[in-house]
Amino acid sequence: SFEPDSPARPTPMMEQYIEIKATNPDSLLFYRMGDFYELFFDDAIAASRALGITLTKRGKHLGEDIPMCGVPVHAADDYLQKLIMRGFRVAVCEQVEDPAEARKRGSKSVVKRDVVRLVTPGTLTEEKLLDPSEANYLMTLGRVKGAAQGQFALAWIDISTGTFRVSETDPSRLLADILRVDPRELIVADPVFHDPDLRPVFDVIGRSVSPQPPSLFDSATAENRIQRYFDVATLDGFGHFSRAELSAISGAIAYVEKTQISERPPLMRPERESEGSTLFIDPATRANLEMLRTLSGNRDGSLLKSIDRTVTGGGARLLAERLTSPLTNPAAIAERLDSVSCFLAGQSLADLTREALKGVPDMPRALSRLAVGRGGPRDLGALARGLEAAAQIASFLGREVLPAELSAVRDCLAGLPGDFASHLDRALDDELPLLKRDGGFVRPGYHAELDEMRALRDHSRRIIAGLQADYMDLTGIRSLKIKHNNVLGYFIEVTANNASVMTGTDEAKGKFIHRQTIANAMRFTTTELAELETKIANAAERALSIELGIFDVLTGETVANADAIRAGAAALATLDVSAGLAALAEEQGYCCPLVDNSLAFEIVAGRHPVVEQSLRRQAANPFVANDCNLTPEGAAKGAIWLLTGPNMGGKSTFLRQNALIAILAQMGSFVPAGSAHIGIVDRLFSRVGASDDLARGRSTFMVEMVETAAILNQASDHSLVILDEIGRGTATFDGLSIAWAAVEYLHEKNQCRAIFATHFHEMTSLSEKLTRLSNVTMRVKEWDGDVVFLHEVAKGAADRSYGVQVARLAGLPEAVVNRARDVLHQLEAGETSGKADKLIDDLPLFSVEVKHEAKAPAKGKDSALLAALSTVNPDEMTPREALDALYRLKGLA
Ligand code: ADP
Repeated sequence: SFEPDSPARPTPMMEQYIEIKATNPDSLLFYRMGDFYELFFDDAIAASRALGITLTKRGKHLGEDIPMCGVPVHAADDYLQKLIMRGFRVAVCEQVEDPAEARKRGSKSVVKRDVVRLVTPGTLTEEKLLDPSEANYLMTLGRVKGAAQGQFALAWIDISTGTFRVSETDPSRLLADILRVDPRELIVADPVFHDPDLRPVFDVIGRSVSPQPPSLFDSATAENRIQRYFDVATLDGFGHFSRAELSAISGAIAYVEKTQISERPPLMRPERESEGSTLFIDPATRANLEMLRTLSGNRDGSLLKSIDRTVTGGGARLLAERLTSPLTNPAAIAERLDSVSCFLAGQSLADLTREALKGVPDMPRALSRLAVGRGGPRDLGALARGLEAAAQIASFLGREVLPAELSAVRDCLAGLPGDFASHLDRALDDELPLLKRDGGFVRPGYHAELDEMRALRDHSRRIIAGLQADYMDLTGIRSLKIKHNNVLGYFIEVTANNASVMTGTDEAKGKFIHRQTIANAMRFTTTELAELETKIANAAERALSIELGIFDVLTGETVANADAIRAGAAALATLDVSAGLAALAEEQGYCCPLVDNSLAFEIVAGRHPVVEQSLRRQAANPFVANDCNLTPEGAAKGAIWLLTGPNMGGKSTFLRQNALIAILAQMGSFVPAGSAHIGIVDRLFSRVGASDDLARGRSTFMVEMVETAAILNQASDHSLVILDEIGRGTATFDGLSIAWAAVEYLHEKNQCRAIFATHFHEMTSLSEKLTRLSNVTMRVKEWDGDVVFLHEVAKGAADRSYGVQVARLAGLPEAVVNRARDVLHQLEAGETSGKADKLIDDLPLFSVEVKHEAKAPAKGKDSALLAALSTVNPDEMTPREALDALYRLKGLA
């Protein structure tokens, strides 16, 4: 190992380490040493910090101690997971020859080692490292230079399931397309990464973007690379791909090859997604509508979480995929809705299906692990159970009249390889070990020689137990024991004071051969014992090698049946999603939407799916259902609702619920409404709530304007737009003017269906001019100076904003509330101008001391504080910097 050679020369092992590390500079190097992966130098320092494990030293390099830390091989997955989550990449370096080989070359030679795999966030396959309910996508961006900015395409792969998709994109929708898929890792060619025009996109995505050499993406060699991977002579059978698509696909494959080294995970053929086949949802809208996560990053409280009633990992992943990519083809949507209806109508069918699905393991992921040599007996077991459940489901579905999607599912399940399933069943025992090298997973009766070897092994063990009794009788030592350890193998142990008997008595003389003396005992062996031991060892070794052979055969059959297994898993996931959505519809009282190619948007008694459930959990007042009708009259285009009402009245809830209903309908789900008629929405836009962009140093107002600009520039007459309080972030008249102009533009130019919530009551007069705009308001009741929110949307305009009442509800001091009421009365009584002076005249109401203090010249620490404060520029700060500044100021006070 690491004996200090000469201080100036690294040991041969260090030389090897340094060489391997040099070719993997971006990754932590897990260097295999016996039962541990060891990390050295800076890797050790970084890993020990990230993992909270001890940093030690091992040997010296160039006269300096070598920092070292290690993780046991058997627990490596846990450590890998932590490192990957903290943004590291890991190169796993194994011994690739038998140590005996190395010894043959000479005493100083080291065992050959090689990196066998790069572990990165987008290339995981281990069960422990993956979330069962989320896909784990690796995405690549291909660019082919041409006119203007060139052509762009995205390809994305889930190695853990084999899914492979590709789609064209362009810089204007790039971020939206990436966020729709939500990859764990994005791979781009170096020059693309450094392109200033694309930089903002990569900045938003953050550290999971990894630049790679452009050769991976070379579109000229792409076809070749793809053909080699799929082992086909031509790509004709794959459909037509553009050069940008080929580049993205090739990049993805090249990266898989680069990270998996010698393994080739079985991937499905790249499937093309055409532009416009899914509902376009821009990134801000995705985030604001809290589709997969809430704005604060939690999954609880997201739309996905509240509609997920699936019972399998595959089902949960498919549901998330459908939710993030709703369809735009009414026929395809109707097909999905038919499946949900079918389960709703046949309750017992739904129950049976969901019950059977509960036992279904994650087949695609087990398959992928087996295919890349990281599988174990339990992965084979998972396939066996999955196929069995599939056969069972196919048989009871066989009796039903099913709509198109489900009957395709049934056909697929019925066509699964039954021979393979029954082979697995015959070969695998009921209880399975995690690791194949532990053996004991093949069922007794499956393989004659294996049974024989196991019998021999077990029988010999019984003979050893008998031998112990014989030796006790022979020596008269009651405490004599036959034991086993890894160094000596089997041995006879007696206490030290009995040792003389073993060598002294006539009977024993010559029989017991001394092996070892330890503190209080002496250890012996006999020829008989040694012979038995060899028998046991041979039998055990032979048994294990038979088992490993069987494992390989079964793995080979698995890979040969990969396509069928994956199709079966996809069919089961479809069932799970449909049955889950039916369960949701039943439980929450959802209705089947009518989705067509019209411009209709008519929701009767709509509810917000997330708020409704949360009110119910809190046993609060039930959610108040509201209608929304943006259906155009005659040949006209979409209508606009201008929604006014007090804060807390329910405006943003109403806006969001209508957007969510559209998403749910187009993903093929029932919707929280009494009835719903929706003409396909091509693009969904929203400007609601405050985004998190403050972290990037843009003011709230700037963010709002950028998002509004995107909407006005992109919304078509088939789009749905929801806008909440635009113009809030600036002076009243500025804000009103911008909001006013935006509504006019939406009405005249975009002509889309829209709901526009505002606190500028002045805007309600727009309805006199804009024919397709109607005023609606959130109803409130005033009672004894307080407001009661009815959460009811009614025709008409709000007459007041009840801000003072809301402020009172929020707990503002009574004096402030009373004073505000006075000010309001005065402002309302006359013209605003002129009156302000009067108000200022009677300002010193509760401010005597305040004024005093403000006028007194600041001294000492106060002046330091003021000076520090004057350097603070909130608009330029990240939240982190703001917090730091606050601490600094506090320190000066
Ligand atoms: P606004 O946008 O007008 O300030 P919100 O939409 O944020 O108001 O709603 C304020 C609160 O009122 C929410 O927290 C929600 O719990 C409740 N709420 C909103 N709409 C409804 C409704 N239709 N039924 C019951 N409660 C509602």
